[in-house]
Amino acid sequence: MPFGNTHNALKMKYASSEEYPDLSQHNNHMAKILTPAIYERLRSKQTPSGFTLDDVIQTGIDNPGHPFIMTVGCVAGDEETYEVFKELLDPIIEDRHGGYKPTDKHKTDLNPNNLKGGDDLDPNYVLSSRVRTGRSIRGFCLPPHCSRGERRGVEKMSVEALDSLSGDLKGKYYALKNMTDAEQQQLIDDHFLFDKPVSPLLLASGMARDWPDGRGIWHNDTKTFLVWVNEEDHLRVISMQKGGNMKEVFNRFCTGLTKIETLFKDKGTSFMWNEHLGYVLTCPSNLGTGLRAGVHVKIPNMSKHAKFEEVLKRLRLQKRGTGGVDTAAVGGTFDISNADRLGFSEVELVQMVVDGVKLLVEMEKKLEKGQSIDNIMPAQK
Ligand code: ADP
Ligand code: MG
Repeated sequence: MPFGNTHNALKMKYASSEEYPDLSQHNNHMAKILTPAIYERLRSKQTPSGFTLDDVIQTGIDNPGHPFIMTVGCVAGDEETYEVFKELLDPIIEDRHGGYKPTDKHKTDLNPNNLKGGDDLDPNYVLSSRVRTGRSIRGFCLPPHCSRGERRGVEKMSVEALDSLSGDLKGKYYALKNMTDAEQQQLIDDHFLFDKPVSPLLLASGMARDWPDGRGIWHNDTKTFLVWVNEEDHLRVISMQKGGNMKEVFNRFCTGLTKIETLFKDKGTSFMWNEHLGYVLTCPSNLGTGLRAGVHVKIPNMSKHAKFEEVLKRLRLQKRGTGGVDTAAVGGTFDISNADRLGFSEVELVQMVVDGVKLLVEMEKKLEKGQSIDNIMPAQK
């Protein structure tokens, strides 16, 4: 596209060293991997839709670090980004996804019958269970790069497809711009809707342009199956409910997702996917399954224990606050979810969460009684 060309041409008047970003205060995966030599080799390139190297890394330049998570520090603007800039993105993916190699192949397993157990997480501790993933619609640029027309196109196509869902999954679309502020805030407070675009991660990547145009949430009447439209990804598909029945949540997730995929196929389009990266999404941290299975779990004793971080690491789990990625935990209640997205199948990731959360709850109960957890420390998964 002309903009990328012209803009890149202007920058080429300066030496690569004169354009190179100051990353001296940075702690994210991009800053770890990017070197002046890589920058020089990639800086004149762009994808067919005009996404450039600087567009890829801008969010990581403007956000040196994050208080609660190690961020990736870059985004994709379209499906081709991962190919055109692979000299930078492959090592970032390897670094972020536990050594996942450029030659590795991704596996998919969306058969909920392969999950063992998961219907009996103790609801006295596990307050809610949730599984989400992202999907990108082939042929459209991703949120950091799409035009207003494309974004509205994604919204129109998605709502048409979702409106054909029936039975338990039958629902309705609520565009952000048709909601009152109070309605929107209620959905956020109840954990159903994405936050307003206050996060610098969203803002610096360009994903929040034109907010709230083209954004919204589609959900069934019971709000157990929800689809976010045009937040960080074209689609975020979510299954959730109160209590600890992760099996039921995952069942609904798989059924709904498979139906949605068929509906898009019927429209003559498909989701971005390849054998190596699995499902292609905006943030490299979500590649592969894009799946985050998590619970809100009350573990005030365990979370204060000196081995808490170590236990999470061994179980391949991550923690967040219950208000989302930008929040700290309050009152010992955490959002505990799988740390991996790539290199494991959907079923394997949900299994890790089910088994890991069971153990965390067992540990919490021991600590409540003043007992030691040393004899139930898990091995490294
Ligand atoms: P995501 O990975 O889906 O983007 P965020 O951390 O941005 O997750 O959180 C998005 C919203 O989902 C927040 O309102 C958060 O409270 C809610 N949420 C996440 N996990 C759960 C859960 N297990 N139960 C209830 N709400 C959840
Ligand atoms: Mg989020």
